[in-house]
Amino acid sequence: MRSSRDLAEILKRIDGRGYKAYKDIQGAYDFGWFTLYIDHVQGDPFASPSRLRARVPQSKAQIPEAWRKNSSRLVALEDYLTRQFARVAGAVARGVKGTGKSGLIAIDKPGQQVLPRTSMVVTPEYVESRFVVGLPASGRRVLGHQAETILCHQVPEIVRKSLLAKNLDSQAVQEHVEVVEDADYIREHLAEQGLVAFVANGSILPRASGISDKPMNAKEAVPFQSPKTLEVTFITPNHGEITGMGIKVGITLIVGGGYHGKSTLLRALEKGVYNHIPGDGREFVITNPNAVKIRAEDGRGVEKVKISPFIVNLPRGVDTDRFSTSEASGSTSQAANIIEALEGGAEVLLIDEDTSATNFMIRDVRMQQLVSKDKEPITPFIDKVRQIYTELGVSTVIVLGGSGDYFDVADTVVMMDEYCPRDVTAAAKQVAEAYRTERIPEGGAGFGTISRRCPLPESIDPTKGRGKIKIAARGVESIQFGREEINLRYLEQLVDPSQSRAIGDIIFYAKRYLDGSRSIREGIELVMQDIEREGLDVISPYKGQHPGDYALPRRHEVIAALNRLRTLKVQVKPE
Ligand code: ADP
Ligand code: MG
Repeated sequence: MRSSRDLAEILKRIDGRGYKAYKDIQGAYDFGWFTLYIDHVQGDPFASPSRLRARVPQSKAQIPEAWRKNSSRLVALEDYLTRQFARVAGAVARGVKGTGKSGLIAIDKPGQQVLPRTSMVVTPEYVESRFVVGLPASGRRVLGHQAETILCHQVPEIVRKSLLAKNLDSQAVQEHVEVVEDADYIREHLAEQGLVAFVANGSILPRASGISDKPMNAKEAVPFQSPKTLEVTFITPNHGEITGMGIKVGITLIVGGGYHGKSTLLRALEKGVYNHIPGDGREFVITNPNAVKIRAEDGRGVEKVKISPFIVNLPRGVDTDRFSTSEASGSTSQAANIIEALEGGAEVLLIDEDTSATNFMIRDVRMQQLVSKDKEPITPFIDKVRQIYTELGVSTVIVLGGSGDYFDVADTVVMMDEYCPRDVTAAAKQVAEAYRTERIPEGGAGFGTISRRCPLPESIDPTKGRGKIKIAARGVESIQFGREEINLRYLEQLVDPSQSRAIGDIIFYAKRYLDGSRSIREGIELVMQDIEREGLDVISPYKGQHPGDYALPRRHEVIAALNRLRTLKVQVKPE
């Protein structure tokens, strides 16, 4: 292997030459205490920056076994080291200026969630960070001496300050891994206690602003405090007893006046499928990992989804057992979102009135009298929510301040009162007795079966012009997939642009399994198993080039993205 001195020599030699001369530095370099891999050299100063890895053997890194002794801790440790690398890089990568991305040293930086990612790999043998560097240029000329500063001085300094245990704040690392381990512990033990979610007392649910996922300022935020009747306690490995509000299986209604914190609670539950960093406020807001947010999404495309449990007899004899449209309405999109979530194995549905179609949620007695059942294609959710629980075992948490009709179908009613939850179940039942709605139930005998939709592989085409593959994420909101744009804006549980990036490549990877005979869920589950077994790197189409910028998505968001690919064609197979 070449040495760091060899690297410096090459850089001196190519100084002042055309940018392509940088290709000479591709390869591995022994720095004595770590190895630098230059995997991919950018083509010009404006192209995506070059991809590098720094691998430090454990004999030098000395990461304590205790920080990585199980998968929860390992994910947290890798997340911590990524953040540390980003912090140090931000401080060290200065001084080198030039054209385009010259001088940049960056790692894929996480947000408030702790997700498995490819930016950092810790094994019993080594610690490896994957990062990018903008190789410096003046115009199109190599700035060799500056490159030497970056690669032979700045990078080693960042690696030293972020990957060697002795340079880390061991208390902060400890806290990071302990919080994540306890969060996973609670999530794994929710079902035992008959819960779909848990919100610890003292949690800070509101965020700093509509565009920031950071916690609201502690002076303004009212910490969460469970009503006594709903309180449960977990005995966690690191934090001992943690007490808070348990949300039970079944149907939970969150009511309360406008602006009293209902949506804020639901949003926290949506994100509770992920773990959060210490200080986030939602460290111990924990939700069943298969909870899926459901909303109306008019305009989306739908391919042969059996929305007939909710919608039949559409005008012009439209088939709602295999409902297809390029532009769904509010109610048909919400129905499709529910059926697709159930196909994907959702165990909890999270619904907010703010983002629902009213005619999908309720139909009161007066409307029943005026518009008879045979003139209304929609069976409202209120008549289906209990069937979904009793027949499919899927619970629902609904925010609804606008209709008391749901008191009849709810198991638990929580009222948000100036950001404080109160258990008003008994009172709601009394009201339901005293003021009968006289609604006629419209739900029929049962919910019916969920059909198997099997994608045709040729309908998943990532190519764009002359067979060239084009898959690119645009932030967290969309993926370019070949000639198509997959709109992810309404997948509210997608939190990281690196998840979107992974989803694009997962869909492409999944083609090997989606052969026309497997359902979407079966195909995507096989991919998720490959990832589980071989790591998230496996989905990268660029072999030999480290994928340092993936974060793990849930299978639910992958399935939802595939369902939003407008070219998707499926064959519906018998259940
Ligand atoms: P609702 O859905 O009941 O109308 P929201 O959840 O949208 O209410 O909350 C209304 C406002 O109150 C938001 O600006 C939110 O940030 C703020 N808020 C929510 N929960 C809290 C809390 N615990 N402490 C302080 N402010 C809060
Ligand atoms: Mg609201």
